[in-house]
Amino acid sequence: MHDFALQERQVLGELAAWIADRRDAPVLIPPGSAGALPAVGRSGIGIRATWALLRDVLLPSSFPADHPRYLAFVGGSPTPAAVIADAALSAAAVYGGSELEAGDVVVAERMAVRWLCDVIGYPEDAHGVFVSGGSLANLSALVAARHDRVGSGGGLPDVIVISAAAHSSIRSAAAIMGCRVVSAGSPDHPTGAADLATVLDSLDPRDVVAVVANAGATNTGAIDDLAGIAATCEARGIWMHVDAAYGGAALLSPTRRPQFDGIQRADSVTIDPHKWLFTPFDCAAVLYLDPAVARSAHRQRAAYLDAVDNDDDNPADYAAHLTRRARGIPVWASLVANGTDAYVDAVETCLAVAGYAAKQVEAAPHLELVTEPRLSVVLFRRIGWDAARYAAWSAGLRSRRTALVTPTTYAGKPALRLCFVNPLTSTDDVDFILNTLEPDTSPALEDVPDTDHRATGDSRSW
Ligand SMILES: *Cc1c(COP(=O)(O)O)cnc(C)c1O
Repeated sequence: MHDFALQERQVLGELAAWIADRRDAPVLIPPGSAGALPAVGRSGIGIRATWALLRDVLLPSSFPADHPRYLAFVGGSPTPAAVIADAALSAAAVYGGSELEAGDVVVAERMAVRWLCDVIGYPEDAHGVFVSGGSLANLSALVAARHDRVGSGGGLPDVIVISAAAHSSIRSAAAIMGCRVVSAGSPDHPTGAADLATVLDSLDPRDVVAVVANAGATNTGAIDDLAGIAATCEARGIWMHVDAAYGGAALLSPTRRPQFDGIQRADSVTIDPHKWLFTPFDCAAVLYLDPAVARSAHRQRAAYLDAVDNDDDNPADYAAHLTRRARGIPVWASLVANGTDAYVDAVETCLAVAGYAAKQVEAAPHLELVTEPRLSVVLFRRIGWDAARYAAWSAGLRSRRTALVTPTTYAGKPALRLCFVNPLTSTDDVDFILNTLEPDTSPALEDVPDTDHRATGDSRSW
């Protein structure tokens, strides 16, 4: 273990204060200062100067995903408890792959996995692991699905049937696995059992690795007919994977829960705590109805692993990885620190602010809602704008560091998309963004007042 000299201890203290006060930090600085960075050279510049570069040049040039007006893509908003646990985890040099090394860290991660299984409605013996992201979770689940199919005899299946709005990571997983994808339904609408049956009828069931359904499509928030798809998969003996990377958090909302019915019948589920469950990057969960299949697909064997007890519950065994960060620890720490009611509350807040945004859009004569909001995604158009206009508006907000909102495409036409996953995003933030689209202010974006995120957001207790 390295000794921390006095200067390093001082920087650690500054780091702690910086973490706590980040929210009150001055305005972000535009990227482009990287030229000021010293070259990597034979002699170092010391920790104090390096920390100053990190704090004052590098980090403020990135648009933080927990900024209340980061509404592009899917942001995140880690709780203080999760951030603290994450920092401690790095410092403690925990190898999270095996019980032998990680000790009770594995026990706490298992509790976080169990909570997610409960949220889904999975039985007691379901299990899974935390990985780097939804992409690796989806890949790991599909590899387990294929392993299961191969185990039942026949050749190597090579077709993955996807809901048309499946996330890009599913195609990427298919490419890695040497599989082709066949898509069911339309990208702009939830996929139903009939859409799926039409596609499956045209395929030899022995060729099908799995069916991938969406529980919260990234672009639209749409949830497929999970119960109908589950019944179809069960009748045909096909593995069902549900990608709930973004949307799974809405299972916590009692009013939204029924839309997910059927998810508990899936053979595997992806859900990303680093999206809408208040955990730092990077952290996603892959969960299996029958974890033995995943273990058999993913467990690595080698002479140097002989000492790792095969009967242990080793997180390395449930995904395409070996050495791993114990990413479930920030999830567990935040859950025990805040309690699950706070999670329900935070998710409901995001849904309510999304509902507010949709109402404001409907009320504005120059704006048009393109679909009723599904989950916390609001899709709308600025009447009269083309793709170039949207791009210029988005770039203007980004370069002024006031908001991150990016255009998308819906039903073949450009649209704006707001995705709410941060309970600190307030209705004022929504008003701020919608105001910049008003006919009077939009051409002269330069006139938009330069506000940082100090002024916005309520003061939640996390
Ligand atoms: C974000 C997302 C993914 C990919 O997750 P990463 O954590 O970015 O790898 C997969 N599926 C859906 C539905 C997503 O929203």
